[in-house]
This record gives sequence, C-alpha cells and structure tokens, in this order.
Amino acid sequence: MNALKRYINSFLLFELLRGLMLTGRHLFARKITVQYPEERTPMSPRFRGLHALRRYPNGEERCIACKLCEAICPALAITIESEQRADGTRRTTRYDLDLTKCIFCGFCEEACPVDSIVETHVIDYHGEQRGDLVYSKDRLLAVGDKYEKLIAAARAADAKYR
Ligand code: SF4
Ligand code: SF4
Repeated sequence: MNALKRYINSFLLFELLRGLMLTGRHLFARKITVQYPEERTPMSPRFRGLHALRRYPNGEERCIACKLCEAICPALAITIESEQRADGTRRTTRYDLDLTKCIFCGFCEEACPVDSIVETHVIDYHGEQRGDLVYSKDRLLAVGDKYEKLIAAARAADAKYR
C-alpha cells in the first residue's frame, strides 16, 4: 500500500509541488539576510573582537609591561619583551599577539591593570599570508589609535553592566 502511495505521489509530482509551496511561502516572507558590510547585526558591548593597545590622551602608551596578560593567556598567544627607560619607567620593546592562537577569552583585558590591551568590536580583518595574523606592538597600537573613541564608548557602556 505504501509503495502504491509513493508511486502515485511521485507520478503526480507531489513532492515537487510541496517543495515549490515552501519556496513560495518564503518568497514573500520578511527577509532576514543581512547585507554585510553595509548592514550589521547588533553587537553586545562585551563583544570580543580584534585586539588593540591603547594610549593615554597625551599619547603615552598605557602598557607598563607588567606581563600579566602574557601570564594569564591560556593560549600562549602573547609574547612580551620589555626594558626600563631612562626615566625609570618600564615599557615593552616587543608585544606580539598571535591571533591564530587566540581563543578570544578576554582574560588579557581582564588582567590588564591599566586598561591597555583591549578587545575591540572590529570583526572585519583578515590575513593573506602566513604571519599576517601575528599582530606586533605597532599594529596593535595603530588599531587602538584608530578606534579609541569606539573603544572608550564600548567600555563606558559595558561599565553599566558591571
Ligand atoms: S583573548 Fe584570551 S586567548 Fe586571546 S590573547 Fe587574550 S588571553 Fe590570550
Ligand atoms: S597590556 Fe596590560 S597586562 Fe599586558 S603587559 Fe601591558 S600593562 Fe601588563
């Protein structure tokens, strides 16, 4: 009986009609496709994207080379070398962050005592060659310089949730 039913259904193209009905229903439904990058979906203030190193308003780097971020990083993605300046302050001479290792856990920014290393809302970055996703100190500072206003606004919004 089932075989006969299947035979009649396939002879009358019943499955095809059901499929077309489903397509027809969605043809006039509200579209949910987002036209990225012109359109973006809402993002939580706590979203963790591309990292940045921040500066103080006077241009001085915030990072004091305490290496807490390096120590806490579970993915061993951060490599820091440092030296003492002539004025007695300590600063990094190398700050590499390997985004291919990073799991975007946010531990580094949680550990940072001076709000230096942060994760921005930037998601559209890529690498085309081996090593492109290893961000050096200069690149991280450049990201921080470029997005400082957005970083500060996101952190102010996040503070409301704490
Ligand atoms: S987000 Fe997590 S995994 Fe990535 S660098 Fe920071 S501590 Fe390491
Ligand atoms: S980014 Fe923050 S936690 Fe990491 S070394 Fe610099 S001051 Fe320390």
